[in-house]
Amino acid sequence: MLSAMVNLRFYLDLDDVVAETTRALAEMARRRFGKNVRFEEMSVFDLSISLGLDENEFPAFMDAAHEPDFLRNLDIVPGAHDTLMKWHEAGAQIHIVTGRPPTSRAATLEWLEARSIPFDGLEFVDKYGRYSGKSATSRDELRLRGFHAAIEDADAAALDLALHTDAQVLLYDRPWNQVSQAEAHGAIRVYGWDDVQRHIERLAPPS
Ligand SMILES: [Mg+2]
Repeated sequence: MLSAMVNLRFYLDLDDVVAETTRALAEMARRRFGKNVRFEEMSVFDLSISLGLDENEFPAFMDAAHEPDFLRNLDIVPGAHDTLMKWHEAGAQIHIVTGRPPTSRAATLEWLEARSIPFDGLEFVDKYGRYSGKSATSRDELRLRGFHAAIEDADAAALDLALHTDAQVLLYDRPWNQVSQAEAHGAIRVYGWDDVQRHIERLAPPS
């Protein structure tokens, strides 16, 4: 029931939920670092392992992964735009929550705006302990946001939300989250945006 969506607060991860980031990273690793790894083979979350980047290559790769030109050219995940537009029009609050470095804010905003993705907030969160002491929100702070639902592909981030918040967590099916702890704690695996939409529209209105 779309009318029940007014005032629901949604956490939307950006990379690999709204943006097709890792497919582009695999292509960039092939072109610039000579790594021939298929997306489907990327069965662990750690990119240094899944792409076979050594300690010298990995920092250069991560820099390239956050270059404005790389971020600006990412494709949108099929179905994400139309579904988010529908929720926005139904009165839901859409919070984009990303583990990208806070320095990528301008390029990220540009991407969201160029693709007309509706959102009420864009938050940079230190999901993986990478930016401590900098201007990113901590996981602890994020737990207090009162989200009704969260959509993530990173199992560790999904698990944190499943364990410490009342949000219904949807785990977006990706090669690197096939072994999931979040699922064991109430997260539901979803196989695309049609599936996301089905689960979200079934949520009870906030009491
Ligand atoms: Mg992600």
